[in-house]
Amino acid sequence: MDKQQEFVLRTLEERDIRFVRLWFTDVLGFLKSVAVAPAELEGAFDEGIGFDGSAIEGFARVYESDMIAKPDPGTFQILPWRAEAPGTARMFCDILMPDGSPSFADPRYVLKRILAKTSDLGFTFYTHPEIEFFLLNQKPVDGSRPVPADSSGYFDHTPQNIGMDFRRQAITMLESMGISVEFSHHEGAPGQQEIDLRYADALSTADNIMTFRLVMKQVALEQGVQATFMPKPFSEFPGSGMHTHLSLFEGDRNAFYESGAEFQLSKVGRSFIAGLLRHAGEISAVTNQWVNSYKRIWGGSQRTAGAGGEAPSYICWGHNNRSALVRVPLYKPGKTGSTRVEVRSLDSGANPYLAYAVLLASGLKGIEGGYELPAGADDDVWALSDAERRSLGIEPLPQNLGEAITLMERSELVAETLGEHVFDFFLRNKKQEWEEYRSEVTPFELRKNLPVL
Ligand code: GLN
Ligand code: MG
Ligand code: MG
Ligand code: MG
Repeated sequence: MDKQQEFVLRTLEERDIRFVRLWFTDVLGFLKSVAVAPAELEGAFDEGIGFDGSAIEGFARVYESDMIAKPDPGTFQILPWRAEAPGTARMFCDILMPDGSPSFADPRYVLKRILAKTSDLGFTFYTHPEIEFFLLNQKPVDGSRPVPADSSGYFDHTPQNIGMDFRRQAITMLESMGISVEFSHHEGAPGQQEIDLRYADALSTADNIMTFRLVMKQVALEQGVQATFMPKPFSEFPGSGMHTHLSLFEGDRNAFYESGAEFQLSKVGRSFIAGLLRHAGEISAVTNQWVNSYKRIWGGSQRTAGAGGEAPSYICWGHNNRSALVRVPLYKPGKTGSTRVEVRSLDSGANPYLAYAVLLASGLKGIEGGYELPAGADDDVWALSDAERRSLGIEPLPQNLGEAITLMERSELVAETLGEHVFDFFLRNKKQEWEEYRSEVTPFELRKNLPVL
């Protein structure tokens, strides 16, 4: 048994922990959990825990449904909302096949595969997510309009505002689970919050995002409200993005930094951005995986100055340009380690493992293929006309999930990165969602047509 495993077993005894939840994530990004008694853990570290994978989204066909969850002792944490003895703890798991080989259906393994390739190329991949979400009074499931839990706006600091208490409690809970928070504030829409996690390696970040979503939902319930990561719950307010800052390190040197270069951005950094841009369309079904995701990208209010929408609709990059898909933040003199690129398309409803895998694959492709970075966009690209954008070579992101699926279907990059199993399942599942949506008569049509037709 290794040191981490010993630490886990000792902590279970010392803290009187009676339940250990083994966590993993399905292909669509939903958290799954099975609780085991502490006595089972030694065996679980050796051989894993068997479960029936056939009922998990995207995991197995029925005839090969036996799967194994093997806990990663490095992810052990006590759940703060179950901390009093007898307590509950959790660990993330890797999913294995009955013969002990990694399961191709496991999103964590998809990310691990591309991270291994990254490390073969001599790089470590770091990510820093800005996670936006809404607090609602309740989550109506009959299609009626939700009610935001507060009426504040961007950076508002209002006493008796549910958001402030909420963020204090939520951040305390995250920190007690080893997840560091850098910034937090009220976002542009009523009820909308943003919490930014400190940068970490991409696998830890993806695990942290899964934990984050559960913690937000838990704290919200304790405060009598509900948290949602739906990309765009309101037509008239901005949606919830999950802007992520990306960087590659070679040892302890930031590979995106070059002293004296434009924006202090190295050749590696420029090619990485070029890769993100060239493959943005085909990875969109993964970074923005719901019908609703495209309402955030194309929906109302992002063009209205001051409305705080700012979701990117067009494929371009810019220096400090908040209408661009990729933004290179201002360089702070002396901070050579902090050179990074911010991807702004990603939304809060994505599966973080898969989304980080395809973003990384796009950037690496740019580096390996020596892609040239096109000119940056200085203007507000929303304010340009279609013709102006065309003459600058600026293409739109997919208009809807249907277009995104068509682009993904033809993508070698996405097929290779996700692996055949996840690629096929994902496409099948998303086509079904798109078809269901396309065939539904919506309140919009009824409102528009019934009075006049
Ligand atoms: N909510 C916006 C989005 O959907 C971002 C707003 C911001 O952080 N500037 O991406
Ligand atoms: Mg932010
Ligand atoms: Mg924000
Ligand atoms: Mg941002």
